Amino acid sequence: MPLLKLENVEKYYGSRSCLTKAVDNISFDVEKGEFTAIMGASGSGKTTLLNCISTIDRVTAGHIYLENTDITALKGKALNKFRREKLGFIFQDFNLMDTLTAYENIALALSIQKYAAKDIDKAVKTVAEQLGITDVLSKYPYQMSGGQKQRVASARAIVTNPKLVLADEPTGALDSKSSKLLLERLSYLNHEHDATIIMVTHDSFSASYASRVLFIKDGKVFNEINRGADTRKVFFNKIIDVLTLLGGDVSDAL
Ligand code: ADP
Ligand code: MG
Repeated sequence: MPLLKLENVEKYYGSRSCLTKAVDNISFDVEKGEFTAIMGASGSGKTTLLNCISTIDRVTAGHIYLENTDITALKGKALNKFRREKLGFIFQDFNLMDTLTAYENIALALSIQKYAAKDIDKAVKTVAEQLGITDVLSKYPYQMSGGQKQRVASARAIVTNPKLVLADEPTGALDSKSSKLLLERLSYLNHEHDATIIMVTHDSFSASYASRVLFIKDGKVFNEINRGADTRKVFFNKIIDVLTLLGGDVSDAL
């Protein structure tokens, strides 16, 4: 049984006269412990798809099952419990609390789950060190660079070791060294904590850390490649090949 099952998911925006099919009948399974990257041109529906999985957006049609629970049907307390306990979400626009320091933003994720104070302190410091943000822990979001905010947001999402990590362009604002730190941390969660990861990215280097890549275009999945036993470098080249074959659309956005 897959951890996550998308069945004919559709998400439309607008009215009948001006309809955008942001997600147009997408179905796929994600096995427990898989690291899936989703690539596609700007406007192809990647964020919308991820937001449907995270329950931030309501699907127009179709179903999404997590461990056999239809999460498109969750409401109220059950919905909050799902978001709080199962999910780590790294948003494209960071979504940090402006009135909290980096430390407090990360700690909040743990205190909501009722971790003990001493465990919180240790976990925050450990993840900060792993992502290279120890020196910004006492800063507020407005005092940080885009890349620092992105890493704080990532730290907040993964500090609880969630079962399902959803990341929307998590390396979009990062330099190559910080990207590597974050991708290695995601790989670590994937390998050592059996976390299932779905990461939207424009970037072939980031995608090459995944075990498979889904390519989407106009709201539909039109290709998929699996890493199998390939090294990351070989897989990287295969991703580039697919993007080159596709020409236009996807590679324009890189
Ligand atoms: P991506 O993340 O791949 O760049 P999005 O999922 O953000 O793409 O957008 C997919 C399509 O849906 C685009 O055509 C976009 O303009 C449209 N769209 C996204 N969000 C909304 C919204 N809230 N209202 C109307 N249209 C939207
Ligand atoms: Mg997007």
